[in-house]
Parts: sequence; structure tokens; C-alpha cells
Amino acid sequence: MTDRSWAERRRMVEEQLRRRGIHDARVLQAVIDVPRHLFVPLAAREASYDDTPLAIGHGQTISQPYIVALMTCALELQGSERVLEVGTGSGYQSAILSRLAREVHTVELVAKLASKASRLLVRLACGNVTVHVGDGSLGWPEAAPYDAVIVTAAAPAMPAPLLQQLADNGRLVIPLASGNGFQLLTLVRYEGGRISEHVLANVAFVPLRGKFGVR
Ligand code: SAH
Repeated sequence: MTDRSWAERRRMVEEQLRRRGIHDARVLQAVIDVPRHLFVPLAAREASYDDTPLAIGHGQTISQPYIVALMTCALELQGSERVLEVGTGSGYQSAILSRLAREVHTVELVAKLASKASRLLVRLACGNVTVHVGDGSLGWPEAAPYDAVIVTAAAPAMPAPLLQQLADNGRLVIPLASGNGFQLLTLVRYEGGRISEHVLANVAFVPLRGKFGVR
């Protein structure tokens, strides 16, 4: 599968990412390097490199590759950052971040998903990723502040703790409910004590749970 899957990732990058305007060379290389099929349940492996989100069990999904790339680009990672991810899920997004930043903390509410992702990340030598079990709507204060925060579940409104844990010049990307069942993928920048917001796309993520999530 190795060679074939590598070729499939090259094709995925060309057809799904580059053609849609994703050009960050480091992000594209990370997508080529991370074996996405290992993060997908056996029953869905054939579809690992399709242009679609996939079910990973426990009612959760691994995002469409284009959305993973779009969110990752928005974080503008250079390699020296400390990053927080809320919603580990399969660990695929964490593995991408692992290649682009210095240190990654990822928080997952479902303990079974966290331990599965953690095992796979160890196997793939993503040694700079730490998987935590807990309510990521509270962030992960122990390792704050973060240069970049990525939330991979849809929040009803901006969770205040995530803003509080953002470093100066920090970037936060999060799907925020827009009222019609969809969400606006929003990029927040924190610069010199000021917050600016920018909408990137319409998206459909599973709900964020927990204190600052959907009750
Ligand atoms: N980034 C993942 C996809 C995540 S799907 C990947 O690459 O596979 C969204 C995940 O967020 C689910 O696993 C869900 O259990 C988790 N989640 C939902 N609410 C959460 C919360 N408050 N804290 C941590 N994880 C949460």
C-alpha cells in the first residue's frame, strides 16, 4: 500500500488542494508525508484519499482533506510554534501539525479516541504531540500561551478560554455556528491587545461539547 498511497496523496494534493488555491509548500508536503489511510477505519480505507470527510466512530468524523489544509494554512506555522488543537479525533490533523510546529497539545473529550490517536501518533514518531483527555472548550491552560489554536468541532460561540490562552500575534481558527445548521470557519488574530476576525469558508463540523460547547 505504501507506494500506492503515496501516489494517491500526490494526486490528492494536486486535485483537491493546489487546484483550489492551497499553495503553502510546507503544508502540501505535510499532507504528502502523513499516511491518511492509517487514521481511517479499515472499512473506509478505500475512501481515504477521496474529497470528503469520513466517519471515525463514536459519531465523529475526520475532516475533508481540503478543510484540514485550509485550516492549517490559516495558522501560518513556521516551525517554532506551540499549538493547541481542540478535538483530536483520529489524530490526523495532529500529525499534520506535528510536522509544521515545535510542540502540539491536542485535547479530546472521548477517552477511547484519544488513546487510539495517541498510539498511532507514537507509531508515526510524532514525538512533539501530546494527547490530553478532557474538555478542550476550556483550552489546555497548563501549556498556554499558544501561538496557534485550531478547533476541529463547531462551537456555538467563541469559547473565552481559547482567546485567553492565545499568545500575542497568535492565530485561532474555529468553526462558529451561523444559525442555519452550518458554520463559518473563522480566523481570529490577536495583535497588540486587539482581536480581528476574518471568515474563511462555510463548513459543517460535528458539534463542540463541554462547558463552552453545545449543551
Ligand atoms: N481533528 C480530527 C477531527 C475531529 S472531529 C481529525 O483530524 O480526525 C471532532 C472531535 O472533537 C471529536 O473527536 C469529538 O469527540 C471532539 N470534541 C468535541 N467536543 C470536544 C471538547 N469539548 N473537547 C475536546 N474534544 C471535543
